[in-house]
Amino acid sequence: MGTTGEVFVIAGTGTLSMEMAISNTLRSGDDMLVVSHGFFGDRFVELCERRDLNVDVLRSKWGKAVSVEEIEEQLRKKSYDAITVTHVDTSTGVSAPIKEIGEILKKYEDTLYIVDGVCSTAGQREYIDEMDIDILLTGSQKAFGVAPGLAILWAGEKALERRKSLGTISEYYIDFERWIPIMNDPSKYFATPAVNMIWALKESINIIKEEGLENRYKRHIRNGRAMQAALEGLGFELLADKDVRAVTLSNALYMDGIDDVEFRSILAEEGVVVAGGLGDYAGKMFRLGHMGNIDIHDMVSTIGAIERTLYRVGVDVELGEGVGILMGELLK
Ligand code: PMP
Repeated sequence: MGTTGEVFVIAGTGTLSMEMAISNTLRSGDDMLVVSHGFFGDRFVELCERRDLNVDVLRSKWGKAVSVEEIEEQLRKKSYDAITVTHVDTSTGVSAPIKEIGEILKKYEDTLYIVDGVCSTAGQREYIDEMDIDILLTGSQKAFGVAPGLAILWAGEKALERRKSLGTISEYYIDFERWIPIMNDPSKYFATPAVNMIWALKESINIIKEEGLENRYKRHIRNGRAMQAALEGLGFELLADKDVRAVTLSNALYMDGIDDVEFRSILAEEGVVVAGGLGDYAGKMFRLGHMGNIDIHDMVSTIGAIERTLYRVGVDVELGEGVGILMGELLK
């Protein structure tokens, strides 16, 4: 992922890696700026409050993004020990301009840049040192295409130095210092590694290397944009504004008259499981992931299942329209 720092792979989920990032770099009373584009950005606020950090939040309306200018203005007003940005907030499908924010942060040496990549890492471009990211965190279950169960976190040199400067921290299991010897030599013991999951991750990394990271990122863009064009062609409105729309998933708003529970259960009968909306969008939207090792067959059968579901719930849909748009886009 383009860092000379350290990578940590431990049993847990994305939330644990969020907590790990904060616990290893900040002490109570430190100043944190959270950029929130939805439910998972807000999760950082909760985590920071529990650690008694002074949190300021730049929050966008769901579906929109905080502008780089707003972030810069806030950084000029006040100095922060760290800033967190969720690359793709799964609740809204908004993708943050990670690289551009990193550019600004080059001027703020003492502010650590923490990026939540749970819904982006291995699916959307993230080059840690080049983008001035200090911590990138994720879980195994999304664009890595592995089952849930691993928290993965990369810490650059500046983050590792910050950890050292804190001395003993109150967390035990997620302490960088405890894990560094094990990451360098896995035959050493600190806490039992989830070896089953690590074998699965290893296989996924083989698949990623075979494809090539850049090719993988391009495939995600092609697949994401094709799926979004097909969904819009079928009449769905997407929550995220076009210029900040993620490619790893689509957050589609229901047309009038569609019942969320009925739609999602018929879609499941047709062979596709999607997640419901979160927060104010519960019941109003579904979230369709198209990240990881999916191919044209997965894409075509998914949009076909969505068409059949629309038909079954009584929407006047022209069968084959979405499939046609999707294939047209994929073959461009
Ligand atoms: N951040 C983001 C952007 C997420 O999408 C999620 C999970 N959907 C999390 C954090 C939390 O990860 P987990 O559920 O693996 O704890």
